[in-house]
Formats: sequence, C-alpha cells, structure tokens
Amino acid sequence: MTAAECMVYTCESSAYAEVELHPARSDPQRAMVCPLHRDELENPDTKWMIDRDAGRFYVGEGLLRSNEYILVDNPTIHGYGTGREFSHFDEDGLHVHFKVHRRGKDAAEDVVLVLTSQEMEQAIRHLGELMPERR
Ligand SMILES: [Zn+2]
Ligand SMILES: [Zn+2]
Repeated sequence: MTAAECMVYTCESSAYAEVELHPARSDPQRAMVCPLHRDELENPDTKWMIDRDAGRFYVGEGLLRSNEYILVDNPTIHGYGTGREFSHFDEDGLHVHFKVHRRGKDAAEDVVLVLTSQEMEQAIRHLGELMPERR
C-alpha cells in the first residue's frame, strides 16, 4: 500500500499527517499533508485557499499559483492621454490603476489595466450581472 499524496496542489510528497486548518470552521476541516506542509499549516498566520471547483488546495507561497490579485485600495480611472504614441493604436485606452497584492505574497504592487471604453462598458455590464440584485 502506498501512502496518499499530500493534498497541497502540485506537492508530490507523501501525506503522513492530518492537520486541522485555521481558522477552525463550524464543520471541522482537516487535510492530509506532508510534514513540510503540516508545519506550515500549524502556523495560524499561514494563508491557504481551498478551491473545490478546481480541486486545488493552495498553501502559503503556493497561493501564487492561483494567479489572483487582491485589491488593497480603491482603483482610479483616467482617460486617454495625447502625450503617448503607439506602434499599435488598438493597445491604447482607458487606464484603471489598481493597488493589489498577489495571493501568496504580501507586498502591494501597482497594476495598470489598459482597456477601451467599449471593453470598460462590457466589464461594467458583466460586473452588474454578477452583483446580487438590489431591492
Ligand atoms: Zn506537501
Ligand atoms: Zn495611467
């Protein structure tokens, strides 16, 4: 009989230890992990995320693999400038300035998203669809 693999996404070590996840939820959540990830998860400061849809368990720096960015400040938007020229005009557009931190990393970074006003409209419409209905 071979030992089960550590549940942490991309970890190929054998799982020897059951660890309780912090914070403890009403339904106790435990994971079978390798000793290295057990040590990491025993630290309550360690961040983790379970993505049940994708069947992935991200821990600590492994969260970088989720490729998600968390907004840490309100975004600012500004319009077209005339001071710049491009080889490809279709890559000009509105600027949305975000201050974010990447999941798995604490340092904040600045990201500027460039999109056309049509793309912006579409994004806002889509966002509206995702929002719960207001009564
Ligand atoms: Zn592991
Ligand atoms: Zn800008």
